[in-house]
Amino acid sequence: MQHAKIPKVIIIGAGPGGLSLYHALINNKEKKEFDVKIFERDSGPEDRWQGYHISLNAPGIVSLLNCIPSSIALNLPKAIPNPIPDVEFHGISISDENGSILFRPPLKQLKELFEIEKATDNIAIISYRDRLRDVLIEGVPVRWGKKCIGYEETKEGIWVKFEDGSREFCDILVGADGINSPVRKQKLPELQTFNYGVTTVNANIPVPKRLMDRLIKVNGNSLIQETLGLKGDWTFTLFRLIPIEQESDDTNKNDSDELHYRLTLAYMYPKRLDESDNVKVDDNDPASVIEHVKEIIRKLRPESEMTDVLLGLWDLAPKTDSEKENFPFKTYLPIQRREMRDIDPLSINTWTSNRVTLLGDAAHAMNPIFGLGTNNAFQDADILSQALLNGSSEDLIPCIQKYENEMRIRSSADVLKSRKAALRQSTPIGSTKVEDT
Ligand SMILES: Cc1cc2nc3c(=O)[nH]c(=O)nc-3n(C[C@H](O)[C@H](O)[C@H](O)COP(=O)(O)OP(=O)(O)OC[C@H]3O[C@@H](n4cnc5c(N)ncnc54)[C@H](O)[C@@H]3O)c2cc1C
Repeated sequence: MQHAKIPKVIIIGAGPGGLSLYHALINNKEKKEFDVKIFERDSGPEDRWQGYHISLNAPGIVSLLNCIPSSIALNLPKAIPNPIPDVEFHGISISDENGSILFRPPLKQLKELFEIEKATDNIAIISYRDRLRDVLIEGVPVRWGKKCIGYEETKEGIWVKFEDGSREFCDILVGADGINSPVRKQKLPELQTFNYGVTTVNANIPVPKRLMDRLIKVNGNSLIQETLGLKGDWTFTLFRLIPIEQESDDTNKNDSDELHYRLTLAYMYPKRLDESDNVKVDDNDPASVIEHVKEIIRKLRPESEMTDVLLGLWDLAPKTDSEKENFPFKTYLPIQRREMRDIDPLSINTWTSNRVTLLGDAAHAMNPIFGLGTNNAFQDADILSQALLNGSSEDLIPCIQKYENEMRIRSSADVLKSRKAALRQSTPIGSTKVEDT
């Protein structure tokens, strides 16, 4: 008896999207067997700091649970701790530049306000990105230190090329390699990133209780907070109110006895403020980036308790390489200015489905305003794996096409919704209204 050929699948990128697809394909062997390999450019799991927070919503969590085996699901509480009743509000508050709340909708109204049809009762739960990566990576034989630089298509399949000169053969190649995906750049060179003209600077910081108390006093206990400036600048913070010291597996090296909390901080401002000749910032020197951010905050924001708290938060961002020792990081992610960008997968009509497909940010990077990026990546992994597991092994391209048709429509809506909201917030009060994009 002749056995059916086991399709070889290569996944590039061990982020949340690539890892959930790996689990979904490997754990359904009784349905269909795939020979799956996952390649990652980082040299190991602790190579790069993976970030403090991401928001997960109900559709994202449902898809994640569809992808992973129960042994991994049992570890999810490490990455997604339960909300603390009466202490944490897993929703958003939007305030003016003084911290006065403009709105803080009850959870059930959030989906209508933000037109997030897919969210069910709660918009999001704030989760730990670094620990989610740890949970998802357990037991996965990631090939580390393998930076993909492109691929070659033949009649039989795909040869994937790596920077170290090696190559690997597969029947299906999945680019889950993030916003700068070399797989996307080769498959769809015409699919360009959309640049907002907005600079974003992000930091992950442990915040001492005294400063956290001041932030909460001005701005409340919503775990996602935005403060809107009048001149097109805005802040975005994500945190949990679980002190770092209470967590047994945290590697926090703080010497003080004061409680600390994890906080993800972002400041967005018009890119033109970087373009004057007087601006001398070295993106390889975090201290100069942080000083620049603080200068802009002082210039654009009024003197107020909210502004003081913001400046205090930026003072906690690591400025030098040696300072990283004082932070609960495995590795250090230098603070740099970046232009806010996204990718709308429906912005081209030349997308052809073939043996090479894309997943997550590689296909549809979106700004973080509604926290939909990771949730879409999990949904992609769920839907692509279902299509491959349920389709004919003889011809997997119709399965990929089915996935891509759904993925492009779903994620494009979220990209554009997030873009419209971010551009609106980045428009100085009194300027021309941002038109629908
Ligand atoms: C280090 C990091 C920190 C982040 N922090 C946050 C955060 O705090 N909050 C938030 O909302 N979002 C954050 N994001 C983005 C968010 O996680 C993603 O939007 C989302 O999870 C989509 O996941 P993804 O798997 O599609 O892509 P990603 O999470 O970007 O993962 C892509 C993976 O592919 C690897 N890769 C890239 N190029 C190559 C290559 N050529 N060859 C091999 N491997 C490659 C990358 O190293 C990465 O591991 C972060 C992303 C990264 C990479």
